[in-house]
Amino acid sequence: MEQERTNRNCPLWGSETCARLNMRACRGCPAEDKDPREAAAIREDVDTLYGLLPEEGVASLFAGEACTLCKGEQKGRRESYGLFDMGHADPRSTKKKLSLFRGKTYAFMMPLQFGCCRDCRRRFQLLSWLPMLTTILVLGGALLVVAREPVAQSLRNVWRGLPLLVMALFAGISYLLGKVLVRVLRERFNRKTYMDLRDHPMVQRMTALGWENVLEGKYPQPVFTRKRLQYGVGTAAPPAEGEKIAADGENLD
Ligand SMILES: [Zn+2]
Repeated sequence: MEQERTNRNCPLWGSETCARLNMRACRGCPAEDKDPREAAAIREDVDTLYGLLPEEGVASLFAGEACTLCKGEQKGRRESYGLFDMGHADPRSTKKKLSLFRGKTYAFMMPLQFGCCRDCRRRFQLLSWLPMLTTILVLGGALLVVAREPVAQSLRNVWRGLPLLVMALFAGISYLLGKVLVRVLRERFNRKTYMDLRDHPMVQRMTALGWENVLEGKYPQPVFTRKRLQYGVGTAAPPAEGEKIAADGENLD
């Protein structure tokens, strides 16, 4: 991996903190142009963050060739990454914050990068598209029928507003159908894939250590990318793994 951590004058150069920060280059690093006292504060932050992580770290999620979202013994081959952020409050801060705002702020963020096979990614993506797809198909089909003049005319003969009412009815049906389909498919997919990331062993270990999902919603959806994040805290691969990946991820969604 091409890296330009060349500033040997940096108080953190070559240290474990430098490795943990895992910046592409000294330029743009949080420790850039900091004096030793400020650098020590950064080291303390990084140490605190690592103290909150599971002992083995999070690299096992993305370092291997196998999918880490597959359930059971048979794992698919990794072809993309599912990104999922978790956040943690600063345990050193004793100040109680008034919760005037709903939105939470976290002192620490950790990107979890799940190596993901094609099947697992498609399951997530299908579920996120399904409600819209159902609406388009059902409403489009209904429109094709109701818009035909003989049909529309016979509906209008009953009551002038009836064509519109029929369409509204189909809108309701497509909404409910979408909901039911998503629920049924999620249950089926969940046998093979961790469709609810809160069930994933790594997320559970992190949750037990005080980390929280950053995303709102009942079933937070990971963001899929072909290439994983390579720089920043929590993105360093174990030294044994050869690095072939070039740059930050392109979005698949
Ligand atoms: Zn998989």
